[in-house]
Amino acid sequence: MPDIEALQPTLVRQFGQVIAEGQLSQAYIFNGQKGTGKAQFAQWLAMRLFCQNLQDGQPCGKCPECSRILSENHPDVVWLRSDAKSIKVDDVRGLKQEMSKSGVEGNQRVFVIEGAERLTPGAANSLLKFYEEPVPGMLIILTTTAKNQLLPTILSRAQVINFPAPARSQVIEQLEAAGVTPALARVAAHLSASIEAGTAMAADPQFAQRIERVLALVDQLAAGDPAAFVAVQTDLVPLAKTPPDQEQVLALLAQAYADALNQHYGVAGVAAFGEEPRVARLAGTSGRRLSDGLAAILQAQIRLRQNVTFQSATEALVIALGAAG
Ligand SMILES: [Zn+2]
Repeated sequence: MPDIEALQPTLVRQFGQVIAEGQLSQAYIFNGQKGTGKAQFAQWLAMRLFCQNLQDGQPCGKCPECSRILSENHPDVVWLRSDAKSIKVDDVRGLKQEMSKSGVEGNQRVFVIEGAERLTPGAANSLLKFYEEPVPGMLIILTTTAKNQLLPTILSRAQVINFPAPARSQVIEQLEAAGVTPALARVAAHLSASIEAGTAMAADPQFAQRIERVLALVDQLAAGDPAAFVAVQTDLVPLAKTPPDQEQVLALLAQAYADALNQHYGVAGVAAFGEEPRVARLAGTSGRRLSDGLAAILQAQIRLRQNVTFQSATEALVIALGAAG
């Protein structure tokens, strides 16, 4: 799990201050795309409130309070999490019962509802009572990827905190901290903007294989090797069975061409493929060939979404790339 202090340092600092000044609101909406650390931040906030052994204003993560919050066994930190398409009145019933009780071990109680955009109007309305007459010490946190889909009555009674997406360098850092090799972390961070998506990508054992096959293809294309055409069927198709995997293969190819184009024109910046010699060889071809190639890959990506099969879209692409320039 990425470290929330590294992922959202500004929010950690701001909320640390808000708590120290006793200015914490009773209801928050954490709004931000997947992977921005909303649920982890809610957990951090709960630990910050309950921790018996704060270290420089930070929860220790080890004391009995922190441990129970981390393992989601704390009686006064209650989560509502559901994978269902919608969160219905029945689903929030248990949470409401909990909200009506007083704290088991003190006054402070924290309630977290994840994916609040999925609350049905009935379920959201049934929670309104707790928004309108908050009990002292009660903290309600809703997390959402789409605050505009929340009922205005809920939105207007809570403070909205926007979670910024992490910078690419942060995604790379967090992936490496999670044990992903630097080379894979760099490529994954270029293909996805979030740590969560990047981690899932890097955890797929075929991800590294797809990179390797795409780089081999890039090398064949740079050398004008006609075997590139056959490699689509023999090497790429077996590694790209599902639509997301097929999109990933084309995204990898596009990234290799983008890297090569930057190298060709000496554009500085973090390259997805680093010092990869096969991309460097491609960069040594003409600028026209690279920019035409990138345009052809974009066309193939569009055709793939229009239900052309991966094999025929990619074979046509390889012919275009071989002929480009
Ligand atoms: Zn603690």
